[in-house]
Amino acid sequence: MERPRRIAFLSEHASPLALLGGADAGGQNVYVDEVSRNLGRLGYAVDVFTRRDAADAPESVAWAPGVRVVNLPAGPPRPLPKDDLWPLMPAFRDALLRFIAREGARYDLVHGNFWMSGWVATELRGRLGLPFVQIFHAMGKTKQRHQGAADTSPAGRIAVEGAIVRGVDRLIAQCPSERDEMVDDYGAPPERVAIIPSAVNTEQFRPMAREEARRRIGLPADGDELVVAYVGRMLPRKDVRNVVRAVALLRRRSDLPVTLLLVGGETVEPDPIRTPEIGALQRLAAELGIADRVRFTGKRQPDVLRDYYSAGDVVVTTPWYEPFGLTPLEGMACGRPVVGSAVGGITFTIADGVTGCLVPPRDPEALADRLHHLLTAPELRARMGRAARLRVEREFTWPTVARRTAALYEDLIAGRGPHPADGAAVHDSGDLVAEPPTAP
Ligand code: UDP
Repeated sequence: MERPRRIAFLSEHASPLALLGGADAGGQNVYVDEVSRNLGRLGYAVDVFTRRDAADAPESVAWAPGVRVVNLPAGPPRPLPKDDLWPLMPAFRDALLRFIAREGARYDLVHGNFWMSGWVATELRGRLGLPFVQIFHAMGKTKQRHQGAADTSPAGRIAVEGAIVRGVDRLIAQCPSERDEMVDDYGAPPERVAIIPSAVNTEQFRPMAREEARRRIGLPADGDELVVAYVGRMLPRKDVRNVVRAVALLRRRSDLPVTLLLVGGETVEPDPIRTPEIGALQRLAAELGIADRVRFTGKRQPDVLRDYYSAGDVVVTTPWYEPFGLTPLEGMACGRPVVGSAVGGITFTIADGVTGCLVPPRDPEALADRLHHLLTAPELRARMGRAARLRVEREFTWPTVARRTAALYEDLIAGRGPHPADGAAVHDSGDLVAEPPTAP
C-alpha cells in the first residue's frame, strides 16, 4: 500500500468509548472496537464515526494505533435511546460530510454498522462514490416478528433496510441464519452477502480456575456450590426470566446447591429502577421462592468479565432471538460449557453436545433438564469446556475477522478501479441538504 487505506467506519449509537464505562454497551460496541483495532494492526487507517453524546467529548480521540474515534455533533450532546436517533441522521450525515471536507480526507471505503448508519453510508456512496460495506447487527423484520407491539423501532426502519440492501456493494452476515434473513426477508442477492462470523478476544477471555474466579468476585470459593452464570444486557428479549424459572424448577426437583449469577444492567450496582428488567427478575425470583439463590452484580467492564464466566460451572443464555450473540463465545473462550437457545447465531457458535447444549427458547423445562444433566456431570462439563475453548481458538478470533473483512474491502476497492475522489475535490460542503430522513 502506498498510503494506508482509509476506512470510514460508521456507528451512530455504539462507540468503542462506551466500553470504558457508563453506558449500556452491547455486542456492536465490541465489534466496532475489535474490528477497527485489528484493521489498524493490518495497516488500515480507520475513523470510527459516532454521535457525540457528552458535552465534554472531544471531536476526535486517538483510540488505538491507526484508529480514531470521531464524535460528530448531531442532536443534544447527551445519551439518547437509540430509537430516538433516526431524525438526527441527516445532521449526522452533514457533520460527517463537513468533517471530510475540512480534513480533505479521502476515504477508500465506507463500512456501515446498524441500519441508521447504513442510511448515512448510502448517502456517502451516492455523494462521494465510495464503495460501501454494511453489517446490520440486527434486522428490523426479525425484531418485529419476535417483539410485535413491543418493538420500539422507528416506523421507517424496514423500508430503509430494504433500500440499503439494494444500494450496498457487499453485506456482511454474521452467520448463515442472518444471511438467510437478508436473502429471504429483504431479497438480497446471495452473491452480495459475505458471511464473516464475529469473534471473541481470546486473551481477554481465557480459562481460569473456578475457585480463583469465585474468590475474585466474592463468592465462596470452597464448598460444593454450583454456579449458573448469565452475562449480558438485561432486556426482555434476552429472556433471563426463562433462566430464573428453570433454576426454580431445578431447586424444586433436586437438592442441587445452585446459585444463579446474573451479570449486566445499566449500572455497576444492580438497580431495579435504572434497569427495569432487574426489577422484574427480582420479583419473579421472589415469587418462585428462590430470591436467596439469585445474585445480581450489575454491569461489569469487559476486562473483568472473565472472572464471572469462570466462576460459573455452566454459562447460560436463552434469548427469544439473537442475531449473533457474543456472550456464548465469551463463555466458551473461558472454557465453560454454554447452554443457549437454538436461535440465530447461537445455533452456529455452540456445537450441540460437544461444546454445550442447545435448547428451545421460552422453555424452562427443557433448560432445567439440560442444566441438571450438566450440573451432575463434572467430567462432561470439563470435556465440553475444553472443546469450547478449542472451537473458539480455531474459528472465532478477531484477527481472523479483520483479515476476512480486509479481503472483502480489497476486492471491492480493486473492482472499482481508480478511486473516484482521486484528484477531485472531495466535497463541496455548500450543497448540504438537511431534509428529514424519509423512508424510500
Ligand atoms: N457485556 C459487558 N458487561 C456486562 C454485560 C455484557 O461488557 O455487564 C458485554 C458482553 O461481554 C458482550 C456484549 O456486552 O461482549 C453483549 O453482546 P451480545 O452480542 O451477546 O449481545 P447484545 O448486547 O449485542 O444484544
